[in-house]
Amino acid sequence: MDLLPSPRPLERPTVQRELRIFAGLLWRYRLRYGVGVASLLVVDIGNLTMPWLIGRFIDEAQAGSLDAAVIWRYVGMVMAIAALVAGFRYLWRMNIFGTARLVEFELRDRLFRHLQRMGARFYQRHSIGDLMAHATNDLSAIRGVLGEGIMAGWDALIMVTLTLATMAGTIHWQLTLVALLPLPLLILFEWALGRQIHVRFKAVQAAFGTLSERVQESLSGARVIKAFAQEEAVTARFQQDNVAYYERFMTLTRLNALNDPVITLLGGLSTVIALGYGGALVLSGELTLGQFVAFNSYLGMLVWPMLATGWVINLVQRGTASMARIQALLDEAPDVSDAPGAKAPEAWRGRLEIRNLTFRYAPELPEVLRDVSVTLRPGETLGIVGRTGSGKSTLVNLLVRVYEPPEGTVFLDGQDVRTLAVEPLRNAVAYVPQDGFLFSTTIAENVAFAPREPEAADVLRAAAIAQLDSEVQDMPHGFETMLGERGITLSGGQRQRVSIARAVFKDAPVLVLDDCLSAVDTLTEARILQGLKPLMAERTTIIVSHRVSALQHADQILVLDAGRVVERGTHAELLALQGEYRKLYDRQAIEAAIEAVE
Ligand code: ATP
Ligand code: MG
Repeated sequence: MDLLPSPRPLERPTVQRELRIFAGLLWRYRLRYGVGVASLLVVDIGNLTMPWLIGRFIDEAQAGSLDAAVIWRYVGMVMAIAALVAGFRYLWRMNIFGTARLVEFELRDRLFRHLQRMGARFYQRHSIGDLMAHATNDLSAIRGVLGEGIMAGWDALIMVTLTLATMAGTIHWQLTLVALLPLPLLILFEWALGRQIHVRFKAVQAAFGTLSERVQESLSGARVIKAFAQEEAVTARFQQDNVAYYERFMTLTRLNALNDPVITLLGGLSTVIALGYGGALVLSGELTLGQFVAFNSYLGMLVWPMLATGWVINLVQRGTASMARIQALLDEAPDVSDAPGAKAPEAWRGRLEIRNLTFRYAPELPEVLRDVSVTLRPGETLGIVGRTGSGKSTLVNLLVRVYEPPEGTVFLDGQDVRTLAVEPLRNAVAYVPQDGFLFSTTIAENVAFAPREPEAADVLRAAAIAQLDSEVQDMPHGFETMLGERGITLSGGQRQRVSIARAVFKDAPVLVLDDCLSAVDTLTEARILQGLKPLMAERTTIIVSHRVSALQHADQILVLDAGRVVERGTHAELLALQGEYRKLYDRQAIEAAIEAVE
């Protein structure tokens, strides 16, 4: 059985794959990045001409050739260059930062689509909080590489190349070489730092995931926490995670804090060398004073690219760590997906067959269903009853492939559901899960949650069948009442009835009700079943219930116990059997009698 996804290595030793992905993204947007980088080049050249101009200006002043016309010429040149730099600065920002935003947008979109395709097992493995952390922090770390990283990296490269070329070419190449003596030390330091950052950033993001998970759960479970007066304990646990996150981040911060001082220190070393050796050159007349001043300005201009390189290494290490995390999610294949050549019948008849179905959730877990077989002709109703944990929900989940049944066990209209395309299969079944989820939107939209036009009349009809209409109409905003976080909270029974109305609205050939009448009283249950009768007459229906009363009109009833069918038959047959079903019936009959007396 291929129940679990194939194991994948958790930590890859190299970041080559992530770097290749980044390279691919850059290549895809090569035009935008090309314009951005070219604009950056213009800006840098513009900036570089400034010290050169000033050097020339000083030399002219010393030579005594300055007059008003010359001064105006210099003013004009400085202003023209400043204007050029301003224009191209706008261009590079738009092209580089703008593209980074675009890539982040696309990646977020892709991640969301991917998450939508993932099945129940995936959400069992990943917490919502951690997934949220991926979608926020990791994506912004990736954007960091594609925006600031590209900008600072190119800028540093251009500046270093141009500055060094100008220093060596127009001033003094020996002096330039000597001033660069501390560089190898710097490279060594940055390399070691980068590796550490990568590892620690991954740990930081993981800790952030845990923290988000804790916050998300504590907020979702706020009511339970309050009811059990567990605020202190929950806060203490949160603090633990918060401290863990803080401490991991501090290890990163300490590393980062090392970066700038070390670079500045090594830069200072260069300045000392330049002052000593350069000063000697001026004294010996090999350098003019203007050249000496310009050289020192250039040296000063090298500090920023050095700092930028440190920053880029930091960004890239964070970005590749985050890319690895995102990629690990994207690499997970949906556990349920269309087989090659998956079929999608034109029309369904609704014949359902389960053959010798044995199922376990994972190889190491016990069997949850054992050798279950049942056949339902189109239009028939199957009732399933059994103790809690006996496998009822599992059985109906396998029908719609929430979990994948073994091959050759579950058939709809004679076709193994595993050979059917997932979407049409799920469209063919109106499934009311045991814990129907309601969205934070209007009641009408919660009911009309199906791939078809939300007709108001259909919503009303569905609500009427679910015995929901009069209650909703009494609400101030009727079917437009908002539910959930920004609206009202429905009672358990009301929630169940909204879920039922949703399934009725869906109007599919197979109807599955998983214990969705448990929170309504017997009278309402009877009314809902009465309302569903015409629908059930023309479609295949499965009703799971703890109450015998909900099943008595079913064509067949299965009694499940620990995953096995222990009794089967019609209501009358099962009563006559004097077995489990009979016991359940008698007990519930007494309960109903007591209820009636009260
Ligand atoms: P209830 O009447 O309480 O709804 P049920 O008959 O619907 O119970 P199931 O939900 O099908 O019972 O669960 C059957 C068994 O399978 C239980 O022992 C449960 O712990 C186990 N089980 C259910 N879902 C999973 C899962 N996703 N992973 C592992 N085990 C599971
Ligand atoms: Mg169940």
